[in-house]
Amino acid sequence: MKKIMVDMDDVLCEKGFIRMINEFLETNYEQEDANSYYINDLIPKERLKEWAEWYSTKNAYDYVDIVKDSQEVMEKLNKVYDVYIATAYVFRDAPEVSGKTLNDKYNFLLKNFPFIDPHKFIFISNKDLLDADIRIDDSPKKLMGKAELKLLFTAYHNKNMTEEELKQNNFVRVNNWKEVEEILLK
Ligand SMILES: [Mg+2]
Repeated sequence: MKKIMVDMDDVLCEKGFIRMINEFLETNYEQEDANSYYINDLIPKERLKEWAEWYSTKNAYDYVDIVKDSQEVMEKLNKVYDVYIATAYVFRDAPEVSGKTLNDKYNFLLKNFPFIDPHKFIFISNKDLLDADIRIDDSPKKLMGKAELKLLFTAYHNKNMTEEELKQNNFVRVNNWKEVEEILLK
């Protein structure tokens, strides 16, 4: 069986961070308003400490949507591939609260992707250390490790990547889980 490594945030679940930021700041930002992968850059510097404290009292996964069709396609993939979920969990703004984030991530995966053996959840920062035949991630940086096929899952922060940039990096863009299914299961 080929090994597939699937990212979690903005691939299996989405929009949690922006909702939390809006609740905290009492704003109505859209994800597209963030200029970077780190959507928390929308928080003014002088409120970062307060934000981290507030964040640590919440379960970020209470705020997410499950990405459309991800459960159904993941379940199908899991029958013909060796599927792992690899996700970063260290919270940049306050690394000391990351243990809780890890716990919340684990429980979310267990509940919503129950067909994946929890031994195949990988909590890690540098995904380049992992070996996989196929990688699916929304972060171009996290797709840099070795793989024969790299699927860049479209997200607010990678929309502007050009065809040429995709080609240079050997990325294939996928806009949704139906497209993943089309490539990996047809
Ligand atoms: Mg991600």
